[in-house]
Amino acid sequence: MAKAVVTSSNRSGQAEPLPVEFANTLSASRGALVEGLACPADLETWLRRHQGLFPDPGPLRGEAAVRVSDQQLCHARVLRDTVRRLIAARVDRKAPDPWDVAHVNRASSMCQSWPVLVWQDPRAPGAEFLCTTDAVTHALALIARSLVLLLAGEQGALLRSCRAPGCVLFFYRHHPRRAWCSSGCGNRARVARHQARRCVGDPP
Ligand SMILES: [Zn+2]
Repeated sequence: MAKAVVTSSNRSGQAEPLPVEFANTLSASRGALVEGLACPADLETWLRRHQGLFPDPGPLRGEAAVRVSDQQLCHARVLRDTVRRLIAARVDRKAPDPWDVAHVNRASSMCQSWPVLVWQDPRAPGAEFLCTTDAVTHALALIARSLVLLLAGEQGALLRSCRAPGCVLFFYRHHPRRAWCSSGCGNRARVARHQARRCVGDPP
């Protein structure tokens, strides 16, 4: 079950599913797109803040810090944009670009992990997880897998794109009355509707 964390995409405190949180690293403000993964440190911070959303064992596996290279940041942004297009296709019930499907499937296959037995204390055998790649590639693979399962499962039907003016975020409709990514977007949409009605009602 996802842990509740405060994120940029949901100020109510309820986290979106992992792939939606990742998609929402691209947002908009005052009519311009805002890149939430502008530098490696942005992705390092995002991974640290969202590690509770990753399936166990998460990519950080208890490590306090993760280092992201410029090339890994580039891979993350390409995957993020792919995730956005695939979620949009699911929301709009449109056929996806086959390249996007192939890309997310490839990202999903980029890391394998397995448990190994660590038995030093005779009374307390333990397990550690090893994986075939670095923590960042592991994280991107887990995001891709989460997206595959989300899009292919029943929950995929509850994905939405926020229709508030200028908003580019996605959300998961946790409850039937949820219509916006945030209460702020709901307010802006109501104001825009009110102004539109006033314009229509105004005498020429
Ligand atoms: Zn919104």
